[in-house]
Amino acid sequence: MRWSATGLLLIALVVHAGCQTTPRTTFSLERPDRHSFATEHFEILSDVRLESNAPTVQALQSLREDLISVLQIPEQRDPVKVYLFSDEVSYRYYMQATWRDLPPRRAYFVGTSRELAVYSFISPHVLEDLRHEFTHGILHASLQSVPLWLDEGVAEYFEVDAGVAERVSETHLQELSTALAEGWSPGLYRLELISDFRDLTQRDYAESWAWVHFMLNSTPEAKEVLLSYLQGLKTTKTPWRLQERLEKAVPSYSDDLRRHVEQLLRGAFPQDNQ
Ligand SMILES: [Zn+2]
Repeated sequence: MRWSATGLLLIALVVHAGCQTTPRTTFSLERPDRHSFATEHFEILSDVRLESNAPTVQALQSLREDLISVLQIPEQRDPVKVYLFSDEVSYRYYMQATWRDLPPRRAYFVGTSRELAVYSFISPHVLEDLRHEFTHGILHASLQSVPLWLDEGVAEYFEVDAGVAERVSETHLQELSTALAEGWSPGLYRLELISDFRDLTQRDYAESWAWVHFMLNSTPEAKEVLLSYLQGLKTTKTPWRLQERLEKAVPSYSDDLRRHVEQLLRGAFPQDNQ
């Protein structure tokens, strides 16, 4: 689901500045701007009115607090802009016209040297999509670099509503159940080599989610590996591999992750996992 729903694009330069011609159509190359709701840390721009108690505003505010308290990441350097289109057709028209090569996805985080921007539209999935993309935004607003697998693993983790028991993603657990049946041997080596989000498969998203879930919720040693890694990303643009640190601190990490997933599966689908 998530695998085909959202995307992450980081580009060093704004590639379309000054070279667009606006076609005469019903749709627009303009981003939503009729209404805005701004805090010190983010701004939502939309063509529909947003009050401070709107679910989207509340969701972003509480997610930001959650990210800072769970991940202990530093204060944001930059605000995150959220462009919330009022309908899917306008969103797709704008995205396709602006970034022609991007695969169509329900939401995008686009990080450029000019701004950190989330794009999506009002739909039944809007809160989940915004939680995912806004997590990317906060990570990139606070850290110097974020390896792709970790970016997606953390975004997948925090897109699940905080009220869901153990913050499990049933979609990812189902994927990992299949992986386990196929003799899955978890390791970060391969994931840490992937640098383009278009190369990530559904299983890669599920594994990235599982590593983050495992490190945040298994043992203090595993959690410390993730938190100190994130601290290191505050200042480095060329991160080391997390697997080496994890291997040192938790030598049985591969078996431990498998057991962690099996335990989550028993909790989520007790009838299938006796
Ligand atoms: Zn993502």
